[in-house]
Amino acid sequence: MNILLLGPPGAGKGTQGERVAERLGVPKIATGDVLRAAVREGTSMGLAAKGFMDRGALVPDDVILGIVKEALATPEMSSGVVLDGVVRTVPQAQGLKRVFADLRRSLDCVLMFDIADDEVVRRLGGRTVCERCQTPYTGKAPGDPCPRPGCGGTLVRRKDDEPSAIRTRMQAYREQTEPVVAWYRADGTHFIRIDAVGAVDDVTRRVVEALDECGSEGERR
Ligand code: AMP
Repeated sequence: MNILLLGPPGAGKGTQGERVAERLGVPKIATGDVLRAAVREGTSMGLAAKGFMDRGALVPDDVILGIVKEALATPEMSSGVVLDGVVRTVPQAQGLKRVFADLRRSLDCVLMFDIADDEVVRRLGGRTVCERCQTPYTGKAPGDPCPRPGCGGTLVRRKDDEPSAIRTRMQAYREQTEPVVAWYRADGTHFIRIDAVGAVDDVTRRVVEALDECGSEGERR
């Protein structure tokens, strides 16, 4: 199955996306992770993206579509993929549709993670990530050791989790990403809204139900 996860920053797309990918036995691609790796490695794409990312703005569509095109053409992504944060503008949604069409594939489902603004601010403001393994945590302080056994990394705050960048990211979401919802509805893509508030396992249960709905719909088609 090819699944797209949509929703504001901090909605839990990364965490739930890992679980969805594992359940479906397909890889997950998150453009945010690809871009952060490029920044760390100092590639030309990373250098070009860094300024946008640090202030919480969106990276240009052609950069994102380049990443997506390259990733989807790889053999390991040929039997399905979970796309996390990959579509944040209408031109990206249109571009992804073209990339899939060229590969004679299409999106099976869009899962939209629904969460209120104040909960996003609360989650992102309290988030740290391990500088080494990149695992996100809540309720830990920058400088704490990474709790993952054997990692040995230190937790840091992401630059774009600072208050001014959070405001910019939420504005980008409202202005550029929310219109994507209407676009997918008009396109006729199977679209399921998920309540993203609550314990991680509860949200996972809702996601699994959505995947079942998505799978049975796929069989009927
Ligand atoms: P994330 O880890 O998903 O929160 O993404 C971190 C940052 O990477 C975003 O704030 C954007 O600057 C950039 N980014 C990731 N995915 C996209 C996308 N599909 N379109 C534009 N920018 C993106």
